[in-house]
Amino acid sequence: MTKSTARWLMALGCTIVVAAGPGLAGGRQQADPRIDALKREAAAEIVALAGFTQQMVDSIFSFGELGFQEYETQSYLVNILRQHGFTVQEGISGVPTAFMATWGSGKPVIALGSDVDGIPQSSQKPGVAYRAPLVEGAPGHGEGHNSGEAVNVTAAIVIKKIMEREKIPGTIKVWPGVAEELVGTKAYFARDGFFKDVDVCLFTHVGNNLGVSWGSGAGNGLVSVEYRFRGESAHSAGAPWRGRSALDAVELMNIGWNFRREHMRIQQRSHYVIPDGGDQPNVVPPTASVWYYFRETEYPGIKEMWETGNTMAQAAAMMTGTKVESMRVLGSAWPQHMNKVVAEAMYDNIKSVGLPAWSEADQTLARAVQKELGVKEEGLAREIDKLEEPIRDQDKRGGGSDDIGDISWNVPTVTLRFPSNIPNLPGHNWANAIAMATPIAHKGATAGAKVQALTMIDLLLRPEIVKQAWAYFNDVQTKDVKYTPLVRPEDKPAIDLNRDVMERFRPQMKAYYFDPTKYKTYLEQLGIQYPTVRTTADAPRQP
Ligand SMILES: [Zn+2]
Repeated sequence: MTKSTARWLMALGCTIVVAAGPGLAGGRQQADPRIDALKREAAAEIVALAGFTQQMVDSIFSFGELGFQEYETQSYLVNILRQHGFTVQEGISGVPTAFMATWGSGKPVIALGSDVDGIPQSSQKPGVAYRAPLVEGAPGHGEGHNSGEAVNVTAAIVIKKIMEREKIPGTIKVWPGVAEELVGTKAYFARDGFFKDVDVCLFTHVGNNLGVSWGSGAGNGLVSVEYRFRGESAHSAGAPWRGRSALDAVELMNIGWNFRREHMRIQQRSHYVIPDGGDQPNVVPPTASVWYYFRETEYPGIKEMWETGNTMAQAAAMMTGTKVESMRVLGSAWPQHMNKVVAEAMYDNIKSVGLPAWSEADQTLARAVQKELGVKEEGLAREIDKLEEPIRDQDKRGGGSDDIGDISWNVPTVTLRFPSNIPNLPGHNWANAIAMATPIAHKGATAGAKVQALTMIDLLLRPEIVKQAWAYFNDVQTKDVKYTPLVRPEDKPAIDLNRDVMERFRPQMKAYYFDPTKYKTYLEQLGIQYPTVRTTADAPRQP
C-alpha cells in the first residue's frame, strides 16, 4: 500500500492495518495489480454508499419483525434489489417472506446471505444506554439481524457495477436467513435445491469485531420440536376425576428431561418453553404443548436427544392418561463447518480493511451500556480478531446454533462477523439492540461490506480459490461426515409462528418506521441525542 493510498483510506474512516506482502490482498496470494486496483475501487465505492447502507440498517431496525413475519423487511429489500437489476424469486420453499435474488450469468455463483429476524420483547430505543423500549413488550432487533443484509446488498451493488464494466463473468445471489431465531428455513432452502448451483456462500452475521473462522466451531446443531398433548377437560373442582390434564403431561415430561440432563454429554444444550399451558385454572387443560430445542455438537448426538425427548413425551402421556397429539418439527440446524480456503482469503481482506475508526461518542455509548450491565467497561473492539481455527469436540462446551450449518454442508461457506455491536452483551436481549441503529452499527456494516466485496473480487478473479475451496469441501470436510438433513421429507417450514405476536404489535410499531425521505438517520427521526447515557451515578438500574 502506498503512502497516498494509506492516507486516502484513512480519510475514508478506515483503520490501516498493513498486511505483510504486496497489495491489498495480503501476503498469501501473488500480487495482481488489476485485482488490487479493483479492490481499492470497491472499498471506495462502499464508503461512498455509506449513507445508503445506513438507511438499510436503520429501516430494517425500525421494522423489528420476528421470524416468518418479515414482510416489511422483505418488500423493502426486494424493491432495492429489483431497482438494481436483480431478478427476485419471492416466497421460496413455501416461506412467504423468503426470496432469492439473482443477477449475472455463468460461474462462479456467489451467494450472499444474512439473517433478518428479530427477538421477542427486545424493543429498544437506539443510542440509549439503558432499558427504554420504543413499544413496551414489542419485538425488536435484540440480536442485530437488521444489519447483515445491508452489508450484502451494498457489496452486491458495488461488485455488480464493476463486473458489468469489466465484463467479468459470474452470478451474484442475495438471500435472507428468514426466521433464523427459529432455525426455521435454511435446511429447506438446501433441500429445495436453491444452493445446488452455488459455488461459494459468503454468509454474514453481526458481531463486535471483524472475524471469520473455519472448520467445526464452538456452536451446536439442533432440532426444535413441539410436543402437543391431548387430555380431557372437566370442572377442576366439581369433577376433577373426570379430567385428564394435558398440562400434567407437559410437566412430567419436563421433570423427566431435567433429571436426564445430568447424564448427558456436557456439549449439549437443551431448553423449553410452554406455548400452551391451558386456559384457566377451573378447567382441566384438555390441550397443552411444550417446545424444546435439543442441541448437540454432532448429528448423531442431536438425533439421540430427539429420540429421548420423544420417549419422554410418550411416557408422560402414559402416566397421565393423555395422548401425544403431535410431535412437530419447527426448525433444525446442522452443526456448522466453515471452509478453510475461503476463510483464509477473507481473513486477508479483513486485515486490509481493519476496524472502523470509532468516535468518542461511540466509545461513550459502549462503555455506558457495559456499565449498565455490570460487565467489563472496555468499550468497542480496537484490534481485529485472530482467524479462528477448529475446536476439538472434547473441548466444546455447548453454545448457539445457526441453520447456516445446513448450507455449509452443501457448498463451501464462511460467516463473516462484522463489528456493529458492543462487546460483552448477553445476546437475545434489549441491550443488544442499543447499538444497532447508531454510528457503531453503520460503520460496522460498511466495514463488513468492504470485506464481502473484496472477497467477492477474489472469488471472481482467482478461480483457484473456488477450486481449492471445493477440494477442501470434498476431500476434507465431507470425507467422513455425510450430510443427512434433520428435517424429514414430511416436515414443512413453520410459517405460522409469530403471526399473532406481530399482529398484536405491528400497528403500534408502524408509527416508528424509519422515514428516510424526511430524516437522515433514525436517531434524528426519534429525536435521540447520541449517545444518551445516565447522568447520575445513583440513577436506578434495570433489574
Ligand atoms: Zn443471529
